[in-house]
Amino acid sequence: MRKATVLKFKRLFLQQRESVLYADKVLREDFSVSTDDRMDEVDQASSDAEQAMRMRLCNREVLYVKKLDEALRRIEDGTFGTCTECDEDIELRRLEARPTATLCVSCKEEEERREGMMATGRLHKSLGETFSRRYA
Ligand SMILES: [Zn+2]
Repeated sequence: MRKATVLKFKRLFLQQRESVLYADKVLREDFSVSTDDRMDEVDQASSDAEQAMRMRLCNREVLYVKKLDEALRRIEDGTFGTCTECDEDIELRRLEARPTATLCVSCKEEEERREGMMATGRLHKSLGETFSRRYA
């Protein structure tokens, strides 16, 4: 992969990381204000639901930041853009669609086939996504 391309992805990751962390901070501050003075049960219940929703959101963001960190680490050690399964280059179009991808298209399809055998219901959906990602 060309150095300029790697740098482009690095900037993208740093930017995304910052915006996720910033959104997370805003969310927490907003939350700590909105829980003040909630006294009756209905409010308490909706506050609990709200908290659960925010927790889920935060967990998903934590996972995403971990993926970004991992991608940045791979940029540093020079393995970014290389499939972790077969050591071939990951297609640039795939990286542009999913910058944190660590598998090339064929290994990803292989993985999805394996997952599909375990959870048949998900097979069609993931295959559909693969096709649209590939041919869009
Ligand atoms: Zn591969």
